Amino acid sequence: MGIVLFWLHLAMKQITRQTFLLFWRHSRRYGLLVAIQLIVPVAAVLIETTAPLFYKRFFDILAVAKPDAAGATVAALTRPIIAIFILGSTAWALWRIVHFVNNHFQPRVLADLADSCFEYLHEHSYRFFVNRFVGALVRKVNRLINAYEGVTDKIQWDLLPLTIRTGAILVVLFWENYLLGAILLAWTIIYLGISYGLAILKLPYDEKRSASDTIVTARLADSITNNANIKLFTAAGDEHREFGKLTEKQFRATRLAWNVEGFADAIQSSLMVVLEFSIFYVAIRFWSRGMLTVGDFVLIQTYLMQMLSRLWGFGRIIRDLYRYLADAEEMVEILETPHEVQDNPNAKPLAVTTGVITFRDISFDYAQTRTVIKNFSLDIAAGEKVGLVGPSGAGKSTLVALLLRFYDLTSGQIIIDGQDIADVTQESLRAAIGYVPQDPILFHRTLMENIRYGRRDATDAEVLTASQAAHCDEFINQLPDGYQTYVGERGIKLSGGERQRVAIARAILKNAPILLLDEATSSLDSHAEKLIQEALRRLMEGKTTIVIAHRLSTIMKMDRIVVVRDGRIHEVGTHETLVHKSGGLYKQLWELQAGGFIV
Ligand code: ATP
Repeated sequence: MGIVLFWLHLAMKQITRQTFLLFWRHSRRYGLLVAIQLIVPVAAVLIETTAPLFYKRFFDILAVAKPDAAGATVAALTRPIIAIFILGSTAWALWRIVHFVNNHFQPRVLADLADSCFEYLHEHSYRFFVNRFVGALVRKVNRLINAYEGVTDKIQWDLLPLTIRTGAILVVLFWENYLLGAILLAWTIIYLGISYGLAILKLPYDEKRSASDTIVTARLADSITNNANIKLFTAAGDEHREFGKLTEKQFRATRLAWNVEGFADAIQSSLMVVLEFSIFYVAIRFWSRGMLTVGDFVLIQTYLMQMLSRLWGFGRIIRDLYRYLADAEEMVEILETPHEVQDNPNAKPLAVTTGVITFRDISFDYAQTRTVIKNFSLDIAAGEKVGLVGPSGAGKSTLVALLLRFYDLTSGQIIIDGQDIADVTQESLRAAIGYVPQDPILFHRTLMENIRYGRRDATDAEVLTASQAAHCDEFINQLPDGYQTYVGERGIKLSGGERQRVAIARAILKNAPILLLDEATSSLDSHAEKLIQEALRRLMEGKTTIVIAHRLSTIMKMDRIVVVRDGRIHEVGTHETLVHKSGGLYKQLWELQAGGFIV
């Protein structure tokens, strides 16, 4: 009954259904293995439940037999023992088959699940990742995978055998003596119902406990990340006190959860004591009327031991299943969330012929409360170099993100060589654009691999040429492992300027027809910038280029400069015209920077 309640309860929750569906979709690819895993344990359990019948026969013979030198009794006693041996060996062999199959099946599905999560997760939009913590996403993927292992283990090794065993024992006992069968049936229903109820009762306490665990872990991680701040602001004492308050809450939550568990265990064990007593009490009455034999007592006792040892864990199995499902559901939700930016079903690859870019009356907002880009229109000719300038927060980086289709527009169109970017594949669009971001992030891989990321089939010689052009070579050659140096998580072991140079090297290697430079040299000193400007100038040749810069000296030589303010075009012109436009924003910015350098 508990099992039935469990499944009914689960069936009511949509996300749980989705979790099981996801697990099933991944399992059914190996249909034969699933069938073996479900059928063979049933056979093994049925065989194990048959063995006590031979023990019964054995003790029935033994109870009336006298030692017999002729060996007739010995032969009679040996037969059930041989039967038990054969049954035991068969069950042993069947369980070995199940284990063997499982050793292939489960790791296979776990790997498939990890692959599916990886693939689906990476197709989520840029916004999706901006709004989430990396660590939390990684944890969710791991939890989903653990949950699959946990759920299948619980079903295969616990719930399924328990159900079959209990059913088989009830049938045999009814067959032997209907009253004993009825007592055991009634007891099983009450026991499973109560265990299920207790498991549900305990859930909120377990949830509170794991919530307090999470808070303590998060605080610990945050404090370790901020270790330098704690030292700088001499806050170790305060931090420790705050941490102590959280561990105190964790202690209370854990104690309460364990006490509730102890209460549940006490009720379960008392039910078991009552069962043993009642069954034997009734059995003695039947024996006294000659309706039960010694063998029946052995049968009853063996069955009780088989059942009780397994039923003891029933509440825990249910609780574990709920926990695994709750763990999995967070990730399933992500897997069920449609990708925000998707290829149009008829999307074709972008064909860049000349590199003409048109922003046609585009508007965009990150949140509905505020429009960041407002009716922005701009035509960029083939091979034209356009500088985007404007106050911080004006929307310059957002324009670049929209051109890369990291977000879909609220209205308007962005057109490249006559093709709306919403109608081409995202992959082909991004393949046609070289992009150097403000703060490039690198993989924790070698510098060689990081630069080669610009074009993954580039030869070592091509990587070196790009690296030299971007003046990466100088600092890389000073590192002990040179190009084989690992750069740390997100490239943390490199300075901002070094990371920028790696990003420029990547763009040089990629050599895409459209180039976007977002403050590409902002982290470089004037000397390095001068050297790299030269490399960038060469890279820009023949390419349609958009350059965002705060230091106006870097965009002076652009064909056109677009001054953006509050998501709109404020002024457009060459450096020469804008710098002489009286009262113009560009002129003001230029004077503030006194020819490129802030005074
Ligand atoms: P800066 O020169 O300082 O880099 P910018 O002109 O490039 O500024 P954007 O980065 O495009 O400006 O930002 C424009 C506005 O959009 C800002 O007000 C910013 O706070 C907001 N914004 C940027 N990214 C996001 C985001 N992911 N979610 C919500 N708002 C954002």
